[in-house]
Amino acid sequence: MSAVGIVAAAGSGLRLGAAVPKALVPLAGRPLVCWAVDALRAGGVQDVVVAVPESEQHAFATVLPADVQLVVGGATRTDSVRRALAAAPTGARAVLVHDAARPLTPPAVVARVLAALTSGARAVVPVLPVVDTTVVVTEDGLVSSDVPRDPLRRVQTPQGFDREALEAGYRRLEQLGSWFTDDATLVMSTGVAVHTVAGDELAAKVTVPHDLRLAELQVAR
Ligand code: C5P
Repeated sequence: MSAVGIVAAAGSGLRLGAAVPKALVPLAGRPLVCWAVDALRAGGVQDVVVAVPESEQHAFATVLPADVQLVVGGATRTDSVRRALAAAPTGARAVLVHDAARPLTPPAVVARVLAALTSGARAVVPVLPVVDTTVVVTEDGLVSSDVPRDPLRRVQTPQGFDREALEAGYRRLEQLGSWFTDDATLVMSTGVAVHTVAGDELAAKVTVPHDLRLAELQVAR
């Protein structure tokens, strides 16, 4: 199935404490965003649109392949994806939305998402089980209840969508003016079933310095 990729790369990366936006932080000498774009392409995505911070457009254009389209991102991830979607070439029926902050996502995860879309899913996310005991904690720091772990999953990216379903989600967002932490939750709010495929620990998000050290160790193996 032909698909366009959207890479959300417009975050500041404050929690990583780097002097440059997180997506430009190097992993084994290459910016995280380059790894993310490569993973999408190796998994079967053709055109890629990357949402970048307004002040860093030149820096991103310097490190990314010339055929990658850049758009100025927004104040939130949702806003960045909305802008990239509006600018994305219209030829492909499917859209895969990916975080630049997941540099080591195996191409097989991308391929699994594409395969689910080809099989008829209108929305699909890669997921992993929750391995720790998970609890609800009150504002006072007391555990108030535990949460049954078996049905819980951690959601990764890329998240895949039938383009019409994703666009309908973003139109609804404009009406509601609300905020979602990912695109699948937004699309689910319009009544579309969100399917799952197996994620991969390698697709972990780089958020804090420890995550970057782990990624460096993976690449050095
Ligand atoms: O901050 P967090 O790691 O959750 O961000 C996930 C992804 O969303 C990152 O790749 C980041 O660059 C992107 N993002 C964005 N625009 C924002 C905030 C985050 O594209 N305003």
